[in-house]
Amino acid sequence: MSNLAAPMPAAAVTMVADADTEAFIRTVSRFAQERLAPVAEAIDRSDDIGEELFAEMAGLGLFANAFRYDSDQPHGGAERLYFLLRVFEELARVSPTVAKAVMDQNLGQIGMLREYAPEALRDSYLQQIAAGDKYAAFAMSEPQTGSNIARFSTVATPVDGGFRINGHKDWITGAAHRLVHFVVAKPAADSRQIGLFLVDRTLLGPQGGTVEIDDRKQKLGLRGLGEYHVHYNDVFVPHERVVLDFDRGSLRRVMRHYNAKRLGQAAICIGLSKSALRTAFDYTSQRHPAGSPPHLTMRTTLAPLVSEVKAAESITTWAARELAAGDDTGAPSAMAKYVAGELAIRVTNAAAQMCGANGLSDKLPLARLMRDARMLTMAGGASEVLRGTVAHNLERLLA
Ligand SMILES: Cc1cc2nc3c(=O)[nH]c(=O)nc-3n(C[C@H](O)[C@H](O)[C@H](O)COP(=O)(O)OP(=O)(O)OC[C@H]3O[C@@H](n4cnc5c(N)ncnc54)[C@H](O)[C@@H]3O)c2cc1C
Repeated sequence: MSNLAAPMPAAAVTMVADADTEAFIRTVSRFAQERLAPVAEAIDRSDDIGEELFAEMAGLGLFANAFRYDSDQPHGGAERLYFLLRVFEELARVSPTVAKAVMDQNLGQIGMLREYAPEALRDSYLQQIAAGDKYAAFAMSEPQTGSNIARFSTVATPVDGGFRINGHKDWITGAAHRLVHFVVAKPAADSRQIGLFLVDRTLLGPQGGTVEIDDRKQKLGLRGLGEYHVHYNDVFVPHERVVLDFDRGSLRRVMRHYNAKRLGQAAICIGLSKSALRTAFDYTSQRHPAGSPPHLTMRTTLAPLVSEVKAAESITTWAARELAAGDDTGAPSAMAKYVAGELAIRVTNAAAQMCGANGLSDKLPLARLMRDARMLTMAGGASEVLRGTVAHNLERLLA
C-alpha cells in the first residue's frame, strides 16, 4: 500500500494543481476499498485500529496533510477544506472510525498548531505528526462537564520558565497512544480566560510532573481509537510549548478550529450515510424482484433520504466556504454538523430496516454504521448545543 502516493512534506505551504488533488482522492478511495474494507469490522470488534494501519496512513500522507494549504487564508482556504472533507468522506464510507482518526490529525488541534504556535514549534510538530512519529490529542472536556467551558477547572499556574498544569480531562480520544496532548487550561478555576498548552509526554523528564491515563470507555460506536480519563499532575510546559497564552480571545481562537472539526464530523456523517444508502439499495435490488412491493418500498424510502443527504452535502460545502471566509459565529459549522449528524442516524436506521434481519447483523455493515452515527451527535458538540449556537445567531441567519 505504501507506494500508492508519496507523502506530502508537513510544513509545506503550497497550492497544488487540481489533477494532483483528484489523484490523491482516488488514492484515498482505493486505500479505503482495498485496505480498509477487509478490516473495518475487525477494527470495530477489537476496538483497535492498530499501529500498522497508522503507519501505512502516515506513508500515504494522510496526517498533517498540506495539500492546497494557503497560509494567507483562514483554515488554509475553502479549496483546502473541501479537499479534506472529501478525504474524510471517502474513508467514512468504509470506516468512520478511521476517518475520525485522520480528521483528528488534520483539523482542530492541528489547525491550532498551524495557526497559533510559534514557528519552530509548529514546524517541528507538523513534521513529526505527518511522519507518524507522534499523534496529537485534544484535551478539553472535563469529567463534570463536556459542553460548558465555564465549569472547566484544569489550571495552568505560571512558574519559572513556563507553567504547571493540574487537572482532569475526560473522554479524550486516543489519549493513550497519542504522545502530544493539546490541553485547554485556565489561570484559575473561576477565570473566564483559557490558554492552550502543548504537553509532549516524551519530554516530561523527572521534574516534569506526570500524565496518568485510565478509564478507557466501553462505548457503542466509533470504536478503535479509545477515549480516556486523563490526570495532569503538576505537568511542566515551558514557554516555548505554549500555543495560546491566557487571553479573553483564546477561547474564540480555539473554537474557530473546533468548528472546522465539526465540518469534518459532518463529512464523516455524509460518507457513512451514502455508504448505508448504497448498501440498502444493492442488497434490496438483489433480494427482491424489480417491481415487487419491497423493491418499490425501497425506492420510495430511499428517494427522500438521498435528497436529504444531497442537502446535507450542500450545507456542509456552504459552511466550509463561510469558515474559510473568516466566520467566527460557529453557526454554519454547527448547522452542518447538526443536519448531517441527525440525518445519519435516520439514514442508517432506515437502511437497516430495509435489509431485514441481515441489516441488523454482521452480514452487512449497517449495524456498525448505525452505532457510529449515534456517537457523532455527541462527540465534538451535542446536537442540543449546536442548536443553541444556531439559536444565538437567528437574527443574522434570517436577515
Ligand atoms: C466518541 C467521543 C470522542 C470524544 N473525544 C473528545 C476529545 O478528544 N477531547 C475532548 O475534549 N472531548 C471529547 N469528547 C467529549 C465530547 O466533546 C463531549 O462528550 C460533548 O461535548 C458533550 O459533553 P458531555 O458528554 O459532558 O455531555 P453534557 O455536556 O453533560 O451534556 C449532556 C446533555 O445535556 C445537553 N446540554 C448540555 N449543555 C447544553 C446547553 N447549553 N443547552 C442545551 N442542552 C445542553 C447535551 O446536549 C446533552 O444532551 C468525546 C466524546 C465522544 C462521544
